[in-house]
Amino acid sequence: MLSERAKKIKPSATLSIDSKAKEMKASGVDVISFALGEPDFDTPDNIKEAAIKAIKSGFTKYTPVGGVPELKDAIINKLKTDNSLEYDRTEIVVSCGAKHSLYNAAQALYSPGDEVLIPAPYWVSYPDQVLLNDAVPVIVDCREEDLFMVTADSLKEKITKKTKAVILNYPSNPTGYTYDKKTLEGIAEVALKHNLFIVSDEIYEKLLYDGLTHISIASIDKEVKKKTIVINGLSKSHAMTGWRIGYAAGDKSVIKAMENIQSQSTSNPTSISQKAAIEAMTGQQETVSIMVKEFDKRREFIVKELNEIPGVSCRRPQGAFYAFPNIKAHLGKSVGSRKVADSSDMAMYLLEDAAVALVPGGAFGMEGYIRISYATSMEVIKEGLNRIKKALKALS
Ligand code: PMP
Ligand code: GLU
Repeated sequence: MLSERAKKIKPSATLSIDSKAKEMKASGVDVISFALGEPDFDTPDNIKEAAIKAIKSGFTKYTPVGGVPELKDAIINKLKTDNSLEYDRTEIVVSCGAKHSLYNAAQALYSPGDEVLIPAPYWVSYPDQVLLNDAVPVIVDCREEDLFMVTADSLKEKITKKTKAVILNYPSNPTGYTYDKKTLEGIAEVALKHNLFIVSDEIYEKLLYDGLTHISIASIDKEVKKKTIVINGLSKSHAMTGWRIGYAAGDKSVIKAMENIQSQSTSNPTSISQKAAIEAMTGQQETVSIMVKEFDKRREFIVKELNEIPGVSCRRPQGAFYAFPNIKAHLGKSVGSRKVADSSDMAMYLLEDAAVALVPGGAFGMEGYIRISYATSMEVIKEGLNRIKKALKALS
């Protein structure tokens, strides 16, 4: 009954584990959720006020498909100031979240049979978005010793005549690591040599710690910029997950194709959210720094605590709000009749026995790890870690 395409796709693991946790909560179980990558901060008031003003002034109709000119200008200005990238309005498209921008880019770029390189661990939606276009996700495994990031050499090994693009995400979900300039240059060189597009998901760029600054691969040079689709959005930086605003910047022909696809599917992103996004990008930015400072505190705490749990080791992430501890020492153990063979079993065990929701490494294409989102209060983090500690102790 269903299309072959629909049959290939699974639901987003992050979203489904979070909804399971929410269901358990609604039925009275005291669940601690580390499952979802969503800032626990409220959307700042100035942004909310801009949306209220948009509603009251009747800014509630269709807008140009790819976003209103004022929002495109705010994005152009941001890309210039933050990333030294110059674009014009024909090179920007605003969509209903970065996920939608990524989806449109996939639709615009991949034909059936094209191969798309995806370094693992990867964000859960990349392989399925490739599959939705009847293209082939080619997973490039990364190593913890390389801080889970891909190297130019390992990309090279997977390139064939059919390779069309590579998807990069830095700072990374699920690991929190990012690329330095030299590594980006190496990757860009390989991409150019083989005429690959680079889909560069930079949604966590504002969430970097230890004074690190974000470098967009598109800023390396003009040639790289021409082959790169920069993806970004406001969900993480401005605590605006529900507003659904993301955007893409890139070569005019690709952006135009993405806009055409959008014009035949969703039309414009919500008019009200666009006004809110303009305020988010042009108004005060102190709330971003306040959030980053708080995430940084939690990062220090969670990494220290995780490393004190026997059989768990966790490197210190550089950005985003995820810890990705290695739990290999606990795999293969049991409690009663329950065997914990892999990261999925571990996530299930922690959810059912300890009421802690988190995402198994397997969902990101990397076994032996779990992802803990620390976009939640310090109190919740402390309680959740205590529960994990106890549950792991019970395994033998
Ligand atoms: N890319 C990555 C790596 C993400 O973690 C997320 C999380 N939601 C997104 C894209 C999509 O963000 P949104 O659609 O909310 O803008
Ligand atoms: N990106 C977030 C996460 O990884 C939100 C969930 C999703 O969009 O899949 O948890």
